[in-house]
Amino acid sequence: SCIAAPSTNKPIMNWSSLLSPDPYFLPELKLQGKVAIVTGGASGIGESTTHLFWKNGAKVVIADIQDELGQAISDKLGENVCYIHCDVSNEEEVINLVDATVANFGHLDIMFNNAGIADRPLGSILDTTKSDLERVLRVNVIGSYLGAKHAARVMVPQRRGCILFTASACASIAGLASHSYVISKHGVVGLSKNLAAELGQYGIRVNCISPSGLVTGLSLSARQGATPEQIEAGLHELGNLKGKFFRVEDVAKAMLYLASDDGGYVSGHNLVLDGGISVVNPSILKAVGLIQ
Ligand code: NAD
Repeated sequence: SCIAAPSTNKPIMNWSSLLSPDPYFLPELKLQGKVAIVTGGASGIGESTTHLFWKNGAKVVIADIQDELGQAISDKLGENVCYIHCDVSNEEEVINLVDATVANFGHLDIMFNNAGIADRPLGSILDTTKSDLERVLRVNVIGSYLGAKHAARVMVPQRRGCILFTASACASIAGLASHSYVISKHGVVGLSKNLAAELGQYGIRVNCISPSGLVTGLSLSARQGATPEQIEAGLHELGNLKGKFFRVEDVAKAMLYLASDDGGYVSGHNLVLDGGISVVNPSILKAVGLIQ
């Protein structure tokens, strides 16, 4: 005869017990107690992110090669921010950066690999040089790899952490930048996803962000002769989203989302911040009469 199976007619889990007391609680300071490194933190996206992380309670180490700018930001923000000279393409300097951060602040929670350089503007492959490509790869790809590697060295034993990268919208839409720069940013997206696959087992989240063009030292140096206003007006004209200028603060806010508990289950993601340009085709929109 059959033995009756134990009744399954009861809740196997008390779902409400899985929720924290207030799952919608928003802490005022989203990075309280966290320690972050921001490479390229002396200018542009890195500087803005340093400010926002600091305002949200983080201790921030600015890593850059622009010593005066980096030190001035650190002096202005006070004891929770410090500056360390670090060329991200130099492994000894990256090792020193990570070790000094841990020695100073006790641990490392967020590694934002943001330092980057551009080369010449768009041009034919026939005009590119191997040395240009190597120069861009050394900072954008090898620098990101070294930052991630040495952050992982201390995050894996901690069994927590967050590694972030700045890629670019040119890794999602072709024809926006030079071949060298595009190759480098595809490399960053690939590294970010591959690391997310490996480091998830240790509770470490890995993400990257892909902004479209915005006014910073990098975009000014790539378009020499143009004023910031001209560059911004040109970018706005090319953009899909009208009535809004894309600024470094917009990128910093997205970084805060990825770095904080707000993005607590986000990993392996490439957050494209481009007002929609990588998903629209303006020629089609014009042809069907949706835009003029
Ligand atoms: P930025 O020039 O204002 O900032 C870049 C910072 O990186 C500078 O402070 C610079 O000194 C630093 N840096 C350069 N080489 C370095 C090295 N070897 N070691 C350490 N620091 C170094 O420009 P940004 O636009 O804020 O650039 C930040 C990141 O954003 C870069 O990775 C860039 O490729 C990316 N990005 C920029 C745009 C844009 O339009 N500005 C768009 C997409 C992605």
